[in-house]
Amino acid sequence: TVKTRFAPSPTGYLHLGGARTALYCWLYAKKHQGQFVLRIEDTDRERSTEESVQAIFDGMEWMTLSHDEGPYYQTQRFDRYKEQIEKMLESGEAYRCYCSKERLEKLRESQQEAKQNIGYDGHCRNLSADEQDLSQPHVIRFKNPEEGKVVFNDLIKGEIAVSNSELDDLIIARTDGTPTYNFTVVVDDLDMGISHVIRGDDHVNNTPRQINMIKALGAEPPLYAHVPMILGDDGKRLSKRHGAVSVMQYRDMGYLPQAMLNYLVRLGWSHGDQEIFSVDEMIELFDLKDVNRAPSAFNTEKLNWLNQHYMKELPAEDVLPHLQWHIDEAGLDLSNGPDIKRLIPLMAERVKTLSELAESVRYFYQEYDEFDAKAAKKHLRPVAKQPLELVQSKLKEQLDWSADVLHGLVSSVAEELELGMGKVGMPLRVAVTGSGMSPDLGITLELIGKERVLQRIDKALA
Ligand code: GLU
Repeated sequence: TVKTRFAPSPTGYLHLGGARTALYCWLYAKKHQGQFVLRIEDTDRERSTEESVQAIFDGMEWMTLSHDEGPYYQTQRFDRYKEQIEKMLESGEAYRCYCSKERLEKLRESQQEAKQNIGYDGHCRNLSADEQDLSQPHVIRFKNPEEGKVVFNDLIKGEIAVSNSELDDLIIARTDGTPTYNFTVVVDDLDMGISHVIRGDDHVNNTPRQINMIKALGAEPPLYAHVPMILGDDGKRLSKRHGAVSVMQYRDMGYLPQAMLNYLVRLGWSHGDQEIFSVDEMIELFDLKDVNRAPSAFNTEKLNWLNQHYMKELPAEDVLPHLQWHIDEAGLDLSNGPDIKRLIPLMAERVKTLSELAESVRYFYQEYDEFDAKAAKKHLRPVAKQPLELVQSKLKEQLDWSADVLHGLVSSVAEELELGMGKVGMPLRVAVTGSGMSPDLGITLELIGKERVLQRIDKALA
C-alpha cells in the first residue's frame, strides 16, 4: 500500500516549492487509495518556530490537503531516535568518535590541499572498548560501507548510483546526544511505513546515505522521487527576490486555492496539453513518471489566467468564502447592496485576483468619492445634460427594474434623441459607477438599484 509523507522543517513560511511537494505527495497517496502523513521536522530548535508550524497547517488547510496521519513532531520522538542509535551502536553499525574540532579542521585542510574528497577519515571507526573513555565528549557516526555502491531508481530522475567511497561516516548523534537530520528522517520513514518518499531534489544527495542507514537497520528502503526545483523568471532558483514565495501570501493577494492547486500541479507535470484540472482529475491523472526532470519556471501570468478562470467558472457560493476576506479588507458592507453572488462571475471577467474583484464591486455597496477623471472628461464633462435628464425622468417612472428592460429604456432614449447608444450609455455609466468601466449597463443599473441610480444621476447633473 502507498504511504507518502510531507515533512517540512518549520523554519519559515510554507513556500511554493514545499506546497507543490505536498500536493504531489497528497495526490499520489489519493491516487493509490493510500495514506498521506504530515511530519513536522522541528529538531532544529533554534530555527523552528510555533508560527511557522502554524503557517504550514494554515497553508495545507487552505489548499485542502488534509493528512490521514499525524502531524508527527520529531521533537516528540527523541526517545525513539536514542533507542535506534543504541541499536546501531550495539550491532556495530555505528561508533563513537572522539575526534576534536582541531583534528577535524586539520584533516579538512590537508584534504583541501591534496585536492581530495572532503570527509571524515574513519579515525575512530575501529576503536576497541579499551581505547575509549565514554566520559569524554564524543559524537556518534554511522559506519558507512566502504565498498560497493548505492543504486536506486528514482521515480522521476531514473537510476542514480553513488559509490560508497564518496560517502564518509555521517554523524548521527551530536555531542549532546541529539540526533541529526538524516538519521531522524530514516527512523521516521521506517517507523511510519512510508512507501514513497517524494521530496525536493535538494535532498537527492542525502538519499544514498539514508539508504545505507536503512539497510543497516535491517529494513528495505522506500521508493524515492525527487522533484526538480522551481525557478524564477530569470532562471535562478525561486526566492524572495522574485516576489511572493509563501503560499499564504498568494491567498492574501487574492488567489483561489483551486487556482493555486491547478497551477502547482502543472508546474513540473503535464498531461497532454490539458491546462485545467479539477482535483478529481488531478488524482486520476497525476503520475510521478510524468513529472519533468528539468526545473520549471514560475509564471505569474499563467497563475493569473487560472485564477480568473476559477473566479468565473466556480459556483459563486464557492468563491464567496475566499472573497469575503478581501471584501472586509476593502471595507465593504455586503448588506448595503446587491447579492454579491450575482456580481462575482460578471466582475471576474475584468480582474485577475479576488482583491481586485473586491475593489471592482465597490460602487455597488458604497458611494464613490469622485468620478474617474479620464472617464468623466471623456463622457461627462461638460455634462451630458439632456440625455441624463431624459434618462433620469424615464427611470423614475420605471417599475420593472430588471436588466433587459433597463437596457431597452436607455436605447429608447438614445433613439428619441437621435444619438448613438454610447452618447447616452457612457455618461449614464460614469454617473452611476463613477468610472467608464462596468458590466452591461442594464445589469449594472439593476444591481445598483433604483434609488441609488437616481441619486447618482442627480450628483452628476449637479
Ligand atoms: N525537512 C526537510 C525539508 O523541509 C524535508 C525532508 C524530507 O522530505 O526528507 O527540507
